This record gives sequence, structure tokens and C-alpha cells, in this order.
Amino acid sequence: MSTIHIVGGGIAGLTLAATLRRPDWDIVLHEQGRRPEEREVGTAFGLWPAAMAALDRIGLGRSIREQGVHASKATIRSADGRLLTRLPEQDVVMIGRTDLHRMLRGALPASVRWRDARVPDGRALAGDVIVGADGVHSVVRRDHWGDGSAARPRRTTVLRGVIDGDHSGGEVTEYWGNGRLFGISPVAAHRTNWFTAFPEQRFDGVEDGLRHLRRAVRDFPAPVRETVAAAEAEQTLVNGISVSRNLLSSVRGRAVLIGDAAHAMTPSLGRGACESMLDAVALGALLNRHRPAEALRRYRRRRLVAPQLIRAASSMVMNVSLASGRRARVRDGLLRAIGRS
Ligand SMILES: Cc1cc2nc3c(=O)[nH]c(=O)nc-3n(C[C@H](O)[C@H](O)[C@H](O)COP(=O)(O)OP(=O)(O)OC[C@H]3O[C@@H](n4cnc5c(N)ncnc54)[C@H](O)[C@@H]3O)c2cc1C
Repeated sequence: MSTIHIVGGGIAGLTLAATLRRPDWDIVLHEQGRRPEEREVGTAFGLWPAAMAALDRIGLGRSIREQGVHASKATIRSADGRLLTRLPEQDVVMIGRTDLHRMLRGALPASVRWRDARVPDGRALAGDVIVGADGVHSVVRRDHWGDGSAARPRRTTVLRGVIDGDHSGGEVTEYWGNGRLFGISPVAAHRTNWFTAFPEQRFDGVEDGLRHLRRAVRDFPAPVRETVAAAEAEQTLVNGISVSRNLLSSVRGRAVLIGDAAHAMTPSLGRGACESMLDAVALGALLNRHRPAEALRRYRRRRLVAPQLIRAASSMVMNVSLASGRRARVRDGLLRAIGRS
């Protein structure tokens, strides 16, 4: 019997475990942390069509479409509310992070062995395949790719949260100001998801972040001010952002990286979880069909370029969205011109 160790029970690790269908394999899933319901507040993931197609392949697309809300329209506005551009319409399914986790966990085959423990050393696990699905600060990456592969912290702090009521109008709207970004999206019926990013800023906890945010959005349009006024500390999270370095390969020997362990990106574009699920379904499908070494060889080629390009693009979009001064004015002018053409 072959053994596969999946380190990390986040979106990537759970999706992989739900994809694997080999009765002759021992699948061990290691998760160090508290369940996401205990550390998350139910903020939204936007699942793009490619991620939904991957979820369809493992039989979860339908229930996720039913549970989530559909948001096909997305616009970017300036800090005074003027339209800068409309993005091409796409059927994006917005779903709460905790709901998605719960549904993925519910889809795990009974044969998956769950270990509630931290893996301290990514090399110490005996097995045919070691999957690093352990997020941006992956120990599997550190122990197989070396300390030089560590993710780089970006000097940006993100606040995100949910509030009761529908303040989004069923659309995703980002407001790009002078070094300020504020986004609003639906997450479920009668719930609104919001997010914002501060460059070069650290906060002493959530209360301090919210105080800062209230001051920062004083000149923003009513939907933003109302959303921030309704935000409560218990429903808000503060995160620093780190981004991965470009790895030449996400496979080394019997170790393979998926999700943020391979390509942690900024939240701009909302693609991190989508790419994590695409990795997981691609790897799982290959492991279902091929011997481990052949599956990893094929996986390496299949998922080498696209997620790293998206990672780079998301950093660029975050830089543009947080531009200030003259750069922000040029950005707004260009976006308006593109929107008119
Ligand atoms: C503010 C913000 C907003 C975002 N919005 C979106 C969005 O709208 N759409 C989108 O697609 N993406 C979004 N993302 C990105 C998304 O959150 C990530 O890409 C996604 O969660 C990555 O999943 P993962 O499973 O690879 O990693 P994680 O979710 O980080 O999971 C890793 C898991 O591994 C466990 N672990 C770590 N080390 C060990 C160890 N040594 N032993 C055992 N377990 C371990 C952790 O406890 C964790 O549960 C956002 C990210 C941020 C920060």
C-alpha cells in the first residue's frame, strides 16, 4: 500500500483529500490548527469559473453554487464614487470561507486519516508522496526547498470582515483612492463582505485597525462609510501579507507543493484559493491515474506557469490599486479612458 501525507487541512489540502480515490492508498491529513470556524469570521471567497469547473469534477460544484451567491458584475470606482471601469462579466460564486471548509471536509472519504498535530519537520514523514499544503509559511517547502524559499513579507496590512445586511447590491465593487483600497462584495443572503489594505501600516489589534479605518474612509462614498460604521471587532480580522518567491518547480523528489505553499499571492484578483483548488484537483486526478513519480512529473509541468503568473499579476494589481499621488491620478485617467473605449 502507498502512503500519501498531506500536510495542511486548508482549502488546498482538503480539496486534494476529497479528490483522491485510491482504495489501495493510505491517505494521512495533518492539520495543526484550530478549525477555521474558530479562527475565521466567514469572509468571502470569490470562486471563478475555472475553480468551479474543478469542483464540478469532484462532485461539489452543485452544492457550492446552491450555498453561495452569484456575483457576475464587478466595478472599480474612485474614492469619490465615480466609475473607473467595469470588469468583464463572469459567473463568480461568492461563498463564506468557513462554509467552503465545512463542505470540503464533508466530502472527505472515510478512509482519510486525520491527524490533529503540527508536522515539525517536512523530511521526517515516511511515505511515497509528501504534499505541502501547509500555506504561505510551509514547513514542507522550508525542509525540501531550503530557507531561501521562504515567502517575503509585504509591508501591507489587510483588514477584512463581514456585516449583516446587503450593502453590496449583489456586485463586487472596489474603491481605489489615494493609497487606499476598499472592497465590498456579497457573501451570502443578507450578509456583506468587506476588505481593505493599508500599505506600510501595522495595527495593535483589530480595534486599532478599525479606528484607523474609520478615519481613512471619511471621504469615501456612503456605501463604504456605512459598511465601516457597521463593522464590529468580533467580525473583523487583521492580516499581514506575505508572497511566495518564484519556485522553478513545485516538485522535489517525493515532495510536492500546492496552494499558498507554492504560490502565496496578495488578495488582489481574489485568486489564491481558486488556484489552490486547481492545484489540488489536478494533482489528485493525476495521482488517481498514475504511479506517484509519474503523477508528480506530469503535475510539475501542468501547474508550473499559470499560478506563478497569477501570483505576479496579483502583486501588480495590488500596487496599482494602492498607488498614491500622481501615480493614482494617472491610473484613474487611464482606467476611465479604457472604460470609455
Ligand atoms: C485577506 C485575504 C483575502 C483573500 N481573498 C481571497 C478570495 O476572495 N478568493 C481567493 O481565491 N483567495 C483569496 N485569498 C487567498 C486564500 O485565502 C488562500 O490562497 C488560500 O486560503 C490558500 O489555501 P491553502 O490551503 O493553500 O493554505 P491555508 O489556507 O493557509 O491552509 C494551510 C493549512 O495548513 C496548516 N498548517 C500549516 N503548517 C502546518 C504544519 N507544520 N503541520 C500541520 N498543519 C499545518 C494550517 O493550520 C492551515 O490550516 C485571500 C487571502 C487573504 C489573506
